[in-house]
Amino acid sequence: MSELPVEAFAREVPQGRVDSVRSACAMRHEARGIAMEATFDTPDGARTSAASIKDFVLANLGPLLQQFEQQCIANGVHVYWAADAEAARRIVLDICSASGEPGLTIVKGKSMATEEIHLNEALSAQGFDVVETDLGEYVVQLDDDTPSHIVAPIIHKTRTEVAASFQRHGIGGETDDPTELTMEARAALRAAFRRAKIGISGVNFGIAETGRLVIVENEGNNRLSTTAPDVHIAVMGIEKLLPSERDLPLFLKLLTASATGQKLTTYVHLISGPRAEEMDGPKEVHVVLLDNGRSEVLHGPYRSILRCIRCGACLNVCPVYRQATGHAYGHVYSGPLGAVLAPAMDERHLALAKASTLCGACEEVCPVRIPIPDMLLRLRSQGVRKRLFDEPPWHLYAGGATSPKKWRAGLKLLPIAGQMVQSWTEYREFPDAQGRSFREWWRTRP
Ligand code: SF4
Repeated sequence: MSELPVEAFAREVPQGRVDSVRSACAMRHEARGIAMEATFDTPDGARTSAASIKDFVLANLGPLLQQFEQQCIANGVHVYWAADAEAARRIVLDICSASGEPGLTIVKGKSMATEEIHLNEALSAQGFDVVETDLGEYVVQLDDDTPSHIVAPIIHKTRTEVAASFQRHGIGGETDDPTELTMEARAALRAAFRRAKIGISGVNFGIAETGRLVIVENEGNNRLSTTAPDVHIAVMGIEKLLPSERDLPLFLKLLTASATGQKLTTYVHLISGPRAEEMDGPKEVHVVLLDNGRSEVLHGPYRSILRCIRCGACLNVCPVYRQATGHAYGHVYSGPLGAVLAPAMDERHLALAKASTLCGACEEVCPVRIPIPDMLLRLRSQGVRKRLFDEPPWHLYAGGATSPKKWRAGLKLLPIAGQMVQSWTEYREFPDAQGRSFREWWRTRP
């Protein structure tokens, strides 16, 4: 049973927020289409190639992870294996505690893996001063909010709301001009970069062949987070591997076109290890390989969701996501991706599989061709089999429709059925019966 009733999708979303999400999603979706056409001779061929590379990774995940670990160690990088969120938090906390006293500043780049393990809360509870440095994540942190999109964390906010937030926190916000707001955030974040001893990031791709960590971004905050402090900690889902650097150009192009409609992001970082002879760069690099349910998904019917490269294209095109916005899903991963990944990793979120019209648009845009609608149907039938979807009207209907006697009795109750299923009709219209019943018609047919 999910913690989230599906009815949450029909309420609690202010219209301004819906408008903001809808228009931003529509813009990103359009930009994606243009970029895919401009980047690839055959966009669908590129998606097929990427899907088969990721399938190869998933089929050989154990050996590739070992190769990646060996290469990282050879590069001077410390590697840790985290079976679950608690283990990952413990590893990061231990590294941070060994690097300095509580109270020291940690700068963070945008990372869904760290959102998944609720790392900020754990670090703050131990007295560390964690500063999100991605502009969207920075606003999320200021507002004590959560990201509502895996690529655009404040897609649900208007610039006026951002300005108001900056004013509340004494950062500026006298104007809602986006450039001014960005410069104000930049000035505040520079100070954090200067005093930070530790930087934490996610990883877009880990290269098994060379042990390199690849991070893409547009703001430059990841560059500063991973190079200015003495210690860099990267948290990486175990499925983020690519076999070799030859595979990288295809994935970089697919990710950026699908996520932001760009040909390439402003920055692409290839991190090989700590500084050697150089003046700059971290003295220590640590990689935490996060499982947290992925191994189980790998060996089950939803394996192909692990192909996901977190581009957000399926969110942008999904009519349910556009209307409900990310917070309605009640999970770090929202949209069609979240509707599969969240229940695949934890059955308590099975009801999320119903948050879809099954229109198929998500599969059409997915750069790694994940068959999301098929998996949603499978998850739904799993929920029905386990009686996890508590919908009394359909149980009653199934009982009545398979017994002529009950059906006849039920027809007599039809006029008051709407009152009998109040929880169901709270968000839906119960249609009035029209004309004669089928039985009456059948009896009097010529
Ligand atoms: S499921 Fe596909 S479209 Fe959705 S975020 Fe992942 S890679 Fe992108």
